[in-house]
Amino acid sequence: MYKGNKIGVIIAAAGNGSRMGRLLPKQFINIEGEPMLAKTYKAIANSDIVDSIFVVIKEEHDVYWRELVIPHLDNAHLDKLGGLLYGGDERQESIYKALISIENKATGLEYIMIHDGARPFIDQKTLERVASATIEYGAAIPYVKPKDTVRNNERTLDRNELMLVQTPQGFKLQLILKAYKVAYMQNIIGTDDGSLAEHIGVLPTMVRGSDYNIKITTPSDIKDDFRIGKGYDVHRLIEGRRCILGGVCIPSEKGLLGHSDADVLIHAVMDSLLGAASLGDIGHHFPDTEERYRGISSIKLLEEVKDLIEKYGFKVGNIDATVICEEPKIAPFISEMIINISNSLQIEARRVNIKATTTEKLGFIGRGEGIAAEAICILKTN
Ligand code: MG
Repeated sequence: MYKGNKIGVIIAAAGNGSRMGRLLPKQFINIEGEPMLAKTYKAIANSDIVDSIFVVIKEEHDVYWRELVIPHLDNAHLDKLGGLLYGGDERQESIYKALISIENKATGLEYIMIHDGARPFIDQKTLERVASATIEYGAAIPYVKPKDTVRNNERTLDRNELMLVQTPQGFKLQLILKAYKVAYMQNIIGTDDGSLAEHIGVLPTMVRGSDYNIKITTPSDIKDDFRIGKGYDVHRLIEGRRCILGGVCIPSEKGLLGHSDADVLIHAVMDSLLGAASLGDIGHHFPDTEERYRGISSIKLLEEVKDLIEKYGFKVGNIDATVICEEPKIAPFISEMIINISNSLQIEARRVNIKATTTEKLGFIGRGEGIAAEAICILKTN
């Protein structure tokens, strides 16, 4: 409740984000370590002003909502979720569907603020200015002044008259519902919610926005985000098995025991990649209880890990790995291992480094009972 009023927020996140030029829709790209939509949602849910939040996404993005966004939200955030709605092809259609759903649910909300999912840096002060003016005047829009000189083909425009419009835009629920209904009936497409209100004769009150409240649209709007990941694995050495390391079959009396080809190096590399992407571990993705993974080449699994991290918007920065073993000697095979790994990840060989060390005959590795491998990697999101 804010000054005795119930306020809801619609977060519009049903776009394709095609201008980002990525596989992952932009509202789910990592910004400062969390998916954009999670960051936007939390900024709003953390506000005492807001009673209830309605998130509009594309139906086919539901998996991203569940797997990428939800893990970043705690119970207090989720308590404010009034509904997850599936939008239409255009923003206006999506918002209209959300408004109708809010009306039909009889939520008791008197005011609605409509916010772009791609504005994750919304701050409490802007929310408060919009909410306060919305309650007082029925409609309010935040703006900032252009920093650049703006001109059209004929002349330089008077900068004092220009305002760059942001969100959230706030309205009395009944007012914005009417604006959307009229727009629907008259087939009017507006560039934002305020322009639809304007079309029914309502002039929203302009309030100060924030220079930080940018709309993330193109790759230049976000900084590189780096994620570090670590992997570690051990396999037992036994007679009668092949010794596969880094996808290379190394001449050896003994080989590694495991459900797959037991390529301990590739397992450590895969775990580091999954770890950096916050996607769990290889046991989760390739359980050794599954028959289809029996004897499988781990290099093939590495290709699947590559597809997975790409799906979530990550690229490999670099990988550094260490194989820890007494026998066999692996140094002559390292360059081939690097080629295998870089080929299956489709990255340049210079991004992969492999080292080998012993344990000075100490412990199970020193006794030749097993081989361990460690890997560390950096993933980039841009
Ligand atoms: Mg393993």
